[in-house]
Amino acid sequence: MPFSRLSEAFQKMEVTSSRIALTEILIELFKQTPSQLMDDVVYLIQGKLYPDFVGLELGVGEKLLLRAISLATGVGPQEVEKLYKQLGDVGKAAEDCEKRRRQATLFREPLTISRVYSTLEKVAKAFGEGSQDIKIRLLASLFNDAEPLEARYLARIVLGKLRLGVADYTVLDALAVAFGGTKEAREIVERAYNLSSDLGLVARTIAEQELEGVKGIGITVGRPVRPMLAERLKTPQEVLEKIGGEVAAEYKFDGERMQVHKKGDQVWVFSRRLENITDHYPDVTRIAGDGIKAEEVIVEGEGVAFNPDTGEFLPFQELMHRRRKYGIEKAMEEYPVSLYFFDLLYLDGVDYTQKPYSERRRKLTEIVEESERIHLAPMIRTESPDGLETFMMEAIERGCEGLVVKDPGSNYRAGAREWAWIKLKREYRTEMTDTVDLVIVGGFHGRGKRTGVYGAYLVAAYDKEADMFRTVCKVGTGFTDEDLKDFYEMMSRYETDHKHPRVDSKMEADKWFIPQVVIEVLAAEITLSPIHTAAWGSIRSGAGLALRFPRYTGRLRLDKSPEDATTVQELIEMYRRQTKSIVEEEAKEIR
Ligand code: AMP
Repeated sequence: MPFSRLSEAFQKMEVTSSRIALTEILIELFKQTPSQLMDDVVYLIQGKLYPDFVGLELGVGEKLLLRAISLATGVGPQEVEKLYKQLGDVGKAAEDCEKRRRQATLFREPLTISRVYSTLEKVAKAFGEGSQDIKIRLLASLFNDAEPLEARYLARIVLGKLRLGVADYTVLDALAVAFGGTKEAREIVERAYNLSSDLGLVARTIAEQELEGVKGIGITVGRPVRPMLAERLKTPQEVLEKIGGEVAAEYKFDGERMQVHKKGDQVWVFSRRLENITDHYPDVTRIAGDGIKAEEVIVEGEGVAFNPDTGEFLPFQELMHRRRKYGIEKAMEEYPVSLYFFDLLYLDGVDYTQKPYSERRRKLTEIVEESERIHLAPMIRTESPDGLETFMMEAIERGCEGLVVKDPGSNYRAGAREWAWIKLKREYRTEMTDTVDLVIVGGFHGRGKRTGVYGAYLVAAYDKEADMFRTVCKVGTGFTDEDLKDFYEMMSRYETDHKHPRVDSKMEADKWFIPQVVIEVLAAEITLSPIHTAAWGSIRSGAGLALRFPRYTGRLRLDKSPEDATTVQELIEMYRRQTKSIVEEEAKEIR
């Protein structure tokens, strides 16, 4: 099939703004495409060579592409670059160069889809020394034989700028109509896609083996399953009403979703967006390989970064340090990851997505061997709003975002956002911009690099009315190695054998101190807490106020006496202001 057929379709798609018209163009194209080319055509429509999880890219930058175009057309390199700058679109520039072609070709062999695809595949697979030259030669061979319109799309594909805006679901619609024609056909292709994450595979299978073949597409270890997603509600009451009866509630960790596949000794990790992120997480691969007791398995969980010196969770953003090509070893040390598994999708030949949550969770418990770095997401079964509320506060206290509440009878619905999973996040979420001054009342022994000093401190706000110090958080972040040593020495002067009578704490510290030293702390936000005692019962019964993601700013407030610290009353004010601004913001969004 000539590549020009595909370029013409691209040209039509590019000027279409209606989804129906887009689908029509695809249907026409699919009907004319030989079945053995269907997968290549579908990948090319999406500007790719493979599904995302393969993770192989063309590895061609602008410069290299422009050189190849220049080489093929005889238009000077500077002129090509100038054209590109003027037109602002590499496709248009390539097209223009073909029109201005200075180099007449004696033998022009029309491009076919197979040739374009297989040549681009060679470009993607050229690595190492001399690979740049190989890539240029391969690309030049294509541009040498390309017509202007073909050059436009070729250049865009190469730079990953095709962007026809064809959604996966539009391709599925078109496939279902072109080869099935019924509503049932649509459901079957979608199911196959959700389980395989591979549109090309679904397309080729339906073209070659019709719907019966597509029904046979299932889960394969090494190929990600499209993840089940959660809806969102505001209160425990609403969640319980929506699901009805007893629910299963799990901590909602604030990390990166990881779908871990294991087959014998091989382990893959896929992101929520189905990218293969195995290389970014060699530690996860190792831990999961050891801790999951099964031959062939797919499990899902959240990878959460933690501070190796204090054990505290770190905000989700810190995981971005792991998304790099080089220096993974160092990032692994600085930002180690713990795994919290919450689902089982496949086990030794059995598709668990078809089984209810309770059964999946039970089996998951059997195959995951918990250790320091690998856990099951804590879970409770409850029917009561209070039960959910308390569990949610406990989750937040542990540094989680809230809960994901699940219908115990529901299957795993790959690729779907439905009410079988409902997010219940902490109500208020806003930046806390002011720093607070807090009093050190307790210390926790450090681990790892912090052995021999305190790794974190328990800090408190001052309750003026009762003349007491009530805890608000444990802080271990923000201290330099030097700070830790200095603090250790300084705090030895204030050590006491028991909790000081002016300190109110539910949390047990390794060492107690006389309230004396004030430090400045900045946190992400103030939340309700079942553990910290500041403002106990003032906002909600059975809860105090705590700081989330606190960090020492480096300012030791020797100028302040403990009674000058931020007061509990001030914290309540800050919490109310924060809440009010959120309510206003939400109201604005609704308007
Ligand atoms: P959101 O990203 O806010 O839509 O929330 C859904 C995400 O929460 C999932 O994609 C997971 O990455 C994450 N998550 C954390 N803990 C859980 C859990 N116990 N069950 C399901 N998802 C979880």
